[in-house]
Amino acid sequence: MSEADDLRAFLFDAVEDLGGSISECDGVLEVGLPPEFSERIELAPRFTLTCATPAASHADAELLAPGSYVLERFSSLMMRRGRWDSARLGSPPDDWVTEALRAHGLDGSCGLEATLESLATARIWAFTFRVTLVADEKREMFFAVLVREGEASGWIADWEPLEVPLEPAPIALDRERLMTSYRIAAETLTEHARPEVRAFRKTCLTLLDEEVGRIFRYFDRTVDEIRQASPADSEGLLRAIEAERGRRLVEAAERFTPRAQASLCAVRYVEAPEALVALCRRNSDETLARARVDAWSRVIRGIQCASCNRTQGPWRVSQLGAVECIQCLPMANGSARPPSHRPSGTHRRGRKASQGRPRSPRGCMARSRAAVGSHRHR
Ligand SMILES: [Zn+2]
Repeated sequence: MSEADDLRAFLFDAVEDLGGSISECDGVLEVGLPPEFSERIELAPRFTLTCATPAASHADAELLAPGSYVLERFSSLMMRRGRWDSARLGSPPDDWVTEALRAHGLDGSCGLEATLESLATARIWAFTFRVTLVADEKREMFFAVLVREGEASGWIADWEPLEVPLEPAPIALDRERLMTSYRIAAETLTEHARPEVRAFRKTCLTLLDEEVGRIFRYFDRTVDEIRQASPADSEGLLRAIEAERGRRLVEAAERFTPRAQASLCAVRYVEAPEALVALCRRNSDETLARARVDAWSRVIRGIQCASCNRTQGPWRVSQLGAVECIQCLPMANGSARPPSHRPSGTHRRGRKASQGRPRSPRGCMARSRAAVGSHRHR
């Protein structure tokens, strides 16, 4: 996504969140805000914006760009509404590095040992995204995507470690740093969600194919029966049946066409201790890889599986001395199983897994739209 796309996406999210209206025509955004918000935000109830140089026909449209007045007004309101906060992880437990390494199989038991090289403070942006897949059913998933300033890619974090108490640490919002991190987070999310979106799309198109086949078989049979019963005066009836078939096909396409949407729900900036560790084969001084782990998300970053290029552990070391993930190098019989993780994307932030609606086997909230009556019954 370009910067203009990012800004546009942010604005659409923000306006919808405020209960306003926003539409785009010829590159010009028309925004309508509820009176209570337009006053608080010190903007007119209706105004136009553009991401490019305003066309002559829309000379009054304001330019939407980093640092522009409109964007600043929206950012500050979003912050006041709790969609943004900044905090610090001040005092993690003394053994957090050991614990984080152990959780990823780097405690020596799997042939890899980690040595702490240095400690620093990581500046991390956490973006909570809601991903919605809609067709005949609706699936909703929430992801925490973290980006450390200075790194070119982000990671999907588990929810549990993120729920530790943090100390408030107000900072001035730096829009440029935020947008850089947001772009990385959006790319990380797209990459992560791609297999699920593809699978959903495939399922929907298979269902659509079956439904279309069913409709054709039903109407072909009906037409045959009518022709056989009264071949002379059935033309009017056949035209009506054809029209009905067309209507059913359009309805099926509407019902089973998959749509995927991601929206940003919250942004958090957190400063947390971070360890740089060197990974060696057990009883060897040769460094195989260097990795970073922060005390907040506890995710080990900087290791890539030599076989499949995955960047998520737990990790092991092969006979040849290569670092590989547990998928590529399963544990020997009788070894302990790797610790289980609950990745984000499985439930809402802040809700305990044992509370609320039981999770579906797919690991997300899925329900048939038919079951909740949100599409017309036939
Ligand atoms: Zn692997």
